[in-house]
Amino acid sequence: MGHRLVSGAAPACRVPHGHDEVVTVDIAAGDGRGLDPETNMLVEFERAKGRWFEFVDGSLDHSFHVSDRDPLVGWFRENEPELLPSLLVTPGDPTTEVRAACYFAKANALLEDGLACVRVELRETPTNAVEIHGSNAAPGDGWWTRPDFTINDLAPEI
Ligand SMILES: [Zn+2]
Repeated sequence: MGHRLVSGAAPACRVPHGHDEVVTVDIAAGDGRGLDPETNMLVEFERAKGRWFEFVDGSLDHSFHVSDRDPLVGWFRENEPELLPSLLVTPGDPTTEVRAACYFAKANALLEDGLACVRVELRETPTNAVEIHGSNAAPGDGWWTRPDFTINDLAPEI
């Protein structure tokens, strides 16, 4: 992924740059049910992981993370609108903290079969990581609460 932060709180991060991030999502039965007595499973692993992996590989991989206040959003809209779906836009700077909260909410929006996300760890570098668990800390509603593969709320081109 690539990103930049424009608030000024992290001056070194104002220049667009990238990280090879690792996101770990722990899931559990959200409805408290036990194993299926016929299969001894909650849900087959491939089915449980499928939509989240599709989101990571198809939407997050090689996306560019920006603030909704970053003028680069307008630049892309004007000059390379075909790349808008690859912009991950957060309210304010796309810090590791807010993105971990958004991924927690997105995992819960995407999971099916009564499964729920109980923890997200977003590791930006070997020494920088954020962990979210137990509650949804994402700010309000947005792409992170929709059960689709979008990563921004930019209006489609007219
Ligand atoms: Zn960075």
